[in-house]
Amino acid sequence: MSFVFSPMPVVSVPVLGQPERFPVHRIYCVGRNYEEHAKEMGFTGREPPFFFLKPTDSLVVVEAGQTGTMPYPSLTQNLHHEIELVVAIGQGGRNIKAADVTKHIYGYAVGLDMTRRDLQNEMKKQGRPWCIGKAFDHSAPIGPITPIAHAGDVNNAEISLQVNGADRQRSNVAKLIWNVAETIEHLSAAWELQPGDLIYTGTPEGVAAVVAGDTLVGQVAGLGSLQIKIS
Ligand code: MN
Repeated sequence: MSFVFSPMPVVSVPVLGQPERFPVHRIYCVGRNYEEHAKEMGFTGREPPFFFLKPTDSLVVVEAGQTGTMPYPSLTQNLHHEIELVVAIGQGGRNIKAADVTKHIYGYAVGLDMTRRDLQNEMKKQGRPWCIGKAFDHSAPIGPITPIAHAGDVNNAEISLQVNGADRQRSNVAKLIWNVAETIEHLSAAWELQPGDLIYTGTPEGVAAVVAGDTLVGQVAGLGSLQIKIS
């Protein structure tokens, strides 16, 4: 087969402890999935989970032990960090029940749902799609995937983010409004999940702005960390 130009290369994420990489299909994200973050965004209560997507080629893939680089994006004066647990799907399916999710999960990673907050807020105000605030180039940094067998108790793991060494976000995955299993149940009712899908599960409170030159270090206990510098 020949193409009129070279097709996009396969986007992949390293896997800790093995040479084979995880090829990425889609990137799903959950909105407002920690109560204290929902409150800081002006919302309260347990609403049904809602989802948005980022383009697969918006990933900034950071290899184990490396510091990635994210260029400061265009059009914004208010680039926010959102540290998130990312679920990597190894076996697809539709209408997956919460009790059955384990066999569908390949592993977990630490990710950042970087957000042009000023543009997102403007779109919200106008009732328009969030794409320009959420789905821009380089908006999805991610660290290496830890296979589920080596990931420990991710559902009760501390999640945190430091900017230039100072704490910005610190919480626990146990505080997710919709936990990983419930999220997969809801998501797979709306889309058929495929091997290679990534799910950014939402961010705890403490989101704030970063500027060029800042270094961000994110962790979820039991997983590899993620370090990026804004250039
Ligand atoms: Mn988010």
